[in-house]
Amino acid sequence: MIYHQQEILRKELDSFSQKKQSVGFVPTMGALHEGHLSLVEKALSENEVVVVSIFVNPTQFDNASDLEKYPRTLKADAQLLNTLKGTIFIYAPNVADLYGETVISKKYNFGGLEHAMEGKYRTGHFDGVGTVLNLLFRALQPTRAYFGEKDFQQLQIVRRLVAIEQLPVTVVGCPILRESHGLAMSSRNQRLTATQFKEADLIYKTLKKVREHFLEESIPTLQAMAEGIFAESAHLELEYFEIANIENLKTARRKRKGNSYRAFVAAYAGEIRLIDNMELPKI
Ligand code: AMP
Repeated sequence: MIYHQQEILRKELDSFSQKKQSVGFVPTMGALHEGHLSLVEKALSENEVVVVSIFVNPTQFDNASDLEKYPRTLKADAQLLNTLKGTIFIYAPNVADLYGETVISKKYNFGGLEHAMEGKYRTGHFDGVGTVLNLLFRALQPTRAYFGEKDFQQLQIVRRLVAIEQLPVTVVGCPILRESHGLAMSSRNQRLTATQFKEADLIYKTLKKVREHFLEESIPTLQAMAEGIFAESAHLELEYFEIANIENLKTARRKRKGNSYRAFVAAYAGEIRLIDNMELPKI
């Protein structure tokens, strides 16, 4: 069932809350793939009802062309969700239903998490993400909300957002689903040519190589190795490769015992921007 108005959906959800039944929530921008479905399946296994929002949020895009070209496939998305067992409500609002008349971002201080990586390269991105999620959480009042580790920085920021806004929701992180050659599933993959799609497995291969050598090599060596791999690619242009501490997302210059790290990549295939990350072994 697709709802375009939060007021009507809210009434439906109230009947679950009144019976003390839990509401799971999976926020998405649509063009759904198996990665999204894995989040929905987890949410269905842990809650009586699941809301999937499908909304391409204008305030988190710093690039007008990326916003305009973002795939919008509501009918196919609904069909895909229909293949799952369980009670799923789709919330597909227009901008006004969510934002009202003023479509602007709130300014957040996420304790520095917002300045790393994606925040450095996409101005205002996390203010937009925080703003839309705050609006969605307040409108839908879910018990649990599910986010992919594919956007690991976003996941950490959402945890901070929930604390800042004092929202009574549990944030659940979910593993990255990949294509058979390793490329992380993404709505943007639809826009890749066959060659770009094939070659984009380099991102996964690089992350895997870094993971394999993480314990014996220094971080500068691993950094040079990753950058060297991309420098030789005719199809992918590296925007950043970073090894960062998972708690504060600060760039790691050397490994410290007891800390946990992940490797992060953003790269362009033509004009399509792809991101990925991978957990690194414990030291
Ligand atoms: P998006 O529609 O790209 O905003 O993504 C909606 C949610 O799905 C976010 O929490 C993403 O992290 C998650 N997601 C996207 N791609 C994947 C994937 N390949 N594996 C797991 N989760 C994903």
